[in-house]
Amino acid sequence: MKNIPVIMIIFGGSGDLAHRKLYPSLFNLYEQGLIHDNFAVIGTARRPWSHEYLRGQVSDAIHETHDQVDENEVKDFASHFYYQSHDVTNVEHYETLKKLAQELDDRYSAQGNRLFYMAMAPRFFGTIATHINDQHLTGSGFNRIVVEKPFGHDLASAEELNKEITASFDENDIFRIDHYLGKEMIQNIMPMRFTNPLIKNIWSGDYIKNIQITLAERLGVEARGGYYDTSGALRDMVQNHIFQIITLLAMPEPKDLSSDSVHQAKQDLLKSLIIPTPEEVKNDFVRGQYLGSDTTFAYKKEPNVDPNSTTETFVAGKAKFTSGPLAGVPIYFRTGKEFKEKKTRIDIVLKHINNPYGQAHSNNITIEVDPESKIYITINGKKIDEPGIRREDLTYAFSKEEMAKVPDGYERLLHDVFVNDSTNFTHWSELKRYWEFIDAVENAWQKENEAGNPEITQYLPYRMGPKESNDIFESPTEHWIYE
Ligand code: NAD
Repeated sequence: MKNIPVIMIIFGGSGDLAHRKLYPSLFNLYEQGLIHDNFAVIGTARRPWSHEYLRGQVSDAIHETHDQVDENEVKDFASHFYYQSHDVTNVEHYETLKKLAQELDDRYSAQGNRLFYMAMAPRFFGTIATHINDQHLTGSGFNRIVVEKPFGHDLASAEELNKEITASFDENDIFRIDHYLGKEMIQNIMPMRFTNPLIKNIWSGDYIKNIQITLAERLGVEARGGYYDTSGALRDMVQNHIFQIITLLAMPEPKDLSSDSVHQAKQDLLKSLIIPTPEEVKNDFVRGQYLGSDTTFAYKKEPNVDPNSTTETFVAGKAKFTSGPLAGVPIYFRTGKEFKEKKTRIDIVLKHINNPYGQAHSNNITIEVDPESKIYITINGKKIDEPGIRREDLTYAFSKEEMAKVPDGYERLLHDVFVNDSTNFTHWSELKRYWEFIDAVENAWQKENEAGNPEITQYLPYRMGPKESNDIFESPTEHWIYE
């Protein structure tokens, strides 16, 4: 499908996400012809910019992300952008926005199609959704909405937000974006699992001892202390990215690759997600806060962070299912700030097997998601010049040339929104289940906080988080593979 007619409205058009991700991705889709003659983008934000100023910003964003561009193409592309100064809390501004959208629809023959993108602070999502509805901003063609993370703060607020959005949009038209689902190696999980007999046939508790997921960030909270202190690592990273990864790893094989079938497989799995009791939270979760170094602040001393904060900058925990191919297999995860390096990595640890050589290493399958993209399987073989077994890696990696062609996650996902493919977006029933899990952990922690003796480990920065994260393993023979 090419040259999709649409008027796209970006709430937060002067923001970081729009500049770094949305404008460059839209340009690439324009160059591919997916959007071309019949589209216009309205960027809205509070600042008093002009159309020309926004076009300059769009052009800068493209030059900052592309080595070589055809200047005429950039100019043509930017000419499709319009700026509307807009305070999302002011009802009258929606009236002006509606008029501009209609004018542009006529000018570009956009056939009444509208795409709304919420690219601003999450506290405004509900207000925007409500005003899209009461000011009738939707068009006479398709109406789709992309919602950034986080979708709610807990289950109750997520339900409230969902109610506000579904007043104007059907579930099929709501694209809850999780940019991890646009990443090359995350999109590789399904083909890896389902097309290789070597992998597919060992994907069960008979062979897999545990799975370990690490989303390590190198930086601290930087300027986002105020927001982060109301969120924490569990809500910021586990509720969305880590749970989507867990779901892709543990779900049963979908009957085909349609969006409906993939979401059905995810939902079948998630029914059997074990929601932890307070006792299990105590045993299976570790939370921590980073300490300071010579050059960096401790979390509690960061600007806009409560000095008595109980918000975690690190969490390690465990998820388990009672059904699906990995029923009963522990899936451990950890994420946090100020690790020794930035890395996203999944380790699938296989069980030992009895063998006549005695000592042999367990096989592991490792998927490196970021910053490198590769899969490697550790395998045992014969040592060359002495008796014994040695371990080698079989690696599946991309060449530099191939990596250069990999589109950014946002470009992939925006493409999917234009062609109406929801496969790689979060369905409401998945999100709801993730929040049920997260709420159980948050509530248990809250009780501990109120009792006045919360277990929050202070960890040294630029290592692997608190060493207590090794205590969550079910058996003493298990440990983090990535150290
Ligand atoms: P930002 O603070 O850079 O931008 C916010 C935008 O909202 C600005 O354009 C600002 O002018 C506008 N705005 C603020 N108050 C307004 C009001 N009352 N009326 C109208 N406009 C108003 O934020 P960001 O980093 O671009 O993030 C936006 C969303 O994207 C957030 O939900 C965030 O979680 C998500 N996100 C961002 C990134 C990223 O790389 N920046 C990555 C993933 C997700």
